[in-house]
Amino acid sequence: MTAFDDFTSYVGEINDLFCAISILNWDANTNMPTGGAEVRGQQMATLVKLAQEMFTSDKMGRLLAGAETAVSQHAPRSYTARAVSSTRQAYDVARRIPATLLGALVANRSLAEQAWNDAKANNDFARFAPFLERYVVLNQELTAAIGYAHEHGHPYDAMLLRYEPGMTVARLKPLLDELKAGLSPLLEQVVGSGVKMPVAILHGDYPVDQQKAFCYAIAQTLGYDMERGHFGEAPHPFEISFTRQDVRITNRYQSNYLAGGLFGMLHEAGHALYEQGVDPQLNRTALATDFLSQYAVGGVTFGAHESQSRLWENQIGRSRIFWQRHFSQLQAHFPQQLGHVDADTFYRAVNHVEPSYIRVEADELTYNFHIMLRVELEMGLLDGTVTVNELPQIWRNRMQAYLGVVPPTDTLGVLQDIHWAFGQMGTFPAYTIGNVMSAQFFQAAHAAMPDLDDQLANGNYRPLRDWLTENIYRHGRAYSPDELLLAATDSTLQTKPYLDYLREKFGTLYA
Ligand code: ZN
Repeated sequence: MTAFDDFTSYVGEINDLFCAISILNWDANTNMPTGGAEVRGQQMATLVKLAQEMFTSDKMGRLLAGAETAVSQHAPRSYTARAVSSTRQAYDVARRIPATLLGALVANRSLAEQAWNDAKANNDFARFAPFLERYVVLNQELTAAIGYAHEHGHPYDAMLLRYEPGMTVARLKPLLDELKAGLSPLLEQVVGSGVKMPVAILHGDYPVDQQKAFCYAIAQTLGYDMERGHFGEAPHPFEISFTRQDVRITNRYQSNYLAGGLFGMLHEAGHALYEQGVDPQLNRTALATDFLSQYAVGGVTFGAHESQSRLWENQIGRSRIFWQRHFSQLQAHFPQQLGHVDADTFYRAVNHVEPSYIRVEADELTYNFHIMLRVELEMGLLDGTVTVNELPQIWRNRMQAYLGVVPPTDTLGVLQDIHWAFGQMGTFPAYTIGNVMSAQFFQAAHAAMPDLDDQLANGNYRPLRDWLTENIYRHGRAYSPDELLLAATDSTLQTKPYLDYLREKFGTLYA
């Protein structure tokens, strides 16, 4: 075997461990009885530790050095060269993080989650605060260990390096400011228009079995391959992959509300199309492995992944074209509930805009404000300009400033997301980055295929899927989001296509 083969085969074993962690994780979130939680936590911790030891070992260092020599003459953008360079980047970061620090973060987790659950149930932020304070200290130590540019950098850069390599506060802040400046007046106009969408039709008696039947059919129409897929249920919908050969999604249905299940399915199917579209030759390689997040995944960053879930959920699933094509199919599943409704009315209902407290229930227009708020607070916590005790009040103030609503309780405010209960900081930007990127890709797909809307109107998703596979999916983690964007759209991340899309859509809907 050559040095590159030795490297690849060792990476394959680490990838196998990550898949084993994922299957334990998938099971824990779908089938496992609650009694299994404690021992399952120990099982996962053991595998995580093994994988971490393998990846940060001196052996990995030697294999990597050998592989670097082996590919030194390969083209810099070849998959082989990228497999080695991306592993090198992750290895150098991972080696800087002390195992004791990771251990301390994990050790805080079970009690913190418990405290967060209690705090949320009782609207008692003080119960969670000490655990969040501990996380802030540990994450500050983590940012110091990973490192960031002290001159013009920010501790948050070190967090972004883990989830969104290439993104920094210096790039992110202007992006969010541009969005704020673009979205605030639009939201004001929409709210001030007095136009009301017919949302009542989404509430009512919608038997779950009928919802499932429609969702299965649509996911497959979009291109979700059930030979390599599995459609399940879970309290919090998610997509999880065990190489491109086995990409599962879960969804949640409410019998009294139709939109949650529909758009949950479209979102997760979008993630799944990305994973199923990864080039088979990248299976079990470094280009389908996230060493820092310890996950066998083909999508290149959290933001790039979210760009695909959002593209299929919003650009497709909340479009007029989509419902003109598929509404009669939905009607056939719910003849009594929707028999008197037409496609255009349904389209307007699923594009209802209203400032609200809860991020995961927010509409396309208000969603990004929820993200801005969280990102600003995370930055402040890490650089010390915001203290944990101030969080509830700052939360209320910014909700008032951004959306004009103030949550009456912390349960509906600062305590709503589970991310901080896990000690996770730095993943929220991905949602907004994904939104922005999705519009750039969708615009580029239209430019490349002038008849794209006709294809979509006919329910033919193949051309769009092929374009996305060609330009994004098949490359796995070989190219950064900026490289993918540049190749597909001639530009790096920029807000204009997204703002144009929202202005056009909601400007028309709300006259
Ligand atoms: Zn997602």
